[in-house]
Amino acid sequence: MVRPTPQADPLRRYKEKRRFDRTPEPSGRQRKSDDRLYAIQKHDARRLHYDLRLELDGVLKSWAVTKGPSLDPSEKRLAVRTEDHPLDYATFEGRIPEGHYGAGTVMLWDRGYWEPVDDPHEGLDRGKLVFELHGQRLQGRWALVRFRGDGRGKREDWLLIKERDDKVDRDADVTAAFGSSVASGR
Ligand code: MN
Repeated sequence: MVRPTPQADPLRRYKEKRRFDRTPEPSGRQRKSDDRLYAIQKHDARRLHYDLRLELDGVLKSWAVTKGPSLDPSEKRLAVRTEDHPLDYATFEGRIPEGHYGAGTVMLWDRGYWEPVDDPHEGLDRGKLVFELHGQRLQGRWALVRFRGDGRGKREDWLLIKERDDKVDRDADVTAAFGSSVASGR
């Protein structure tokens, strides 16, 4: 006899790590949505990094890009997969208090929409996700390529790579060029 297994909450890990009476971050839940929100948050935590978020299945698939994105295809940037985040997180800016998970300032560095080039579910499974970004600061074709981990719970390391197109700029340093918030301008 086959019994249906209950659908696991994709935000379980997100919720486990946080106390919503102490952090200004959204508690949120998985939502019905077919949008393709895209955001990058500059997160000045213990170690500065850039959190890349791509909406899929009502949550934000997430990667912590340690050095941030590069417009140079030869600059492959480490992107450590992190837990799915609620959709409300895509507009979040604020200060996570000392002593709490991710303590430090979160600033919205880029926002817009993304478009998968192939089936994104297969891409996440197989470890290669190719997509177009339509952001205020980043555009064009990008790839996320997994090189460590198999997607079954342990640490997954990916690389964020700019694919060749007319948005390539080998001399630009986008993270240095844009230091302000796309939301507040500060
Ligand atoms: Mn982060």
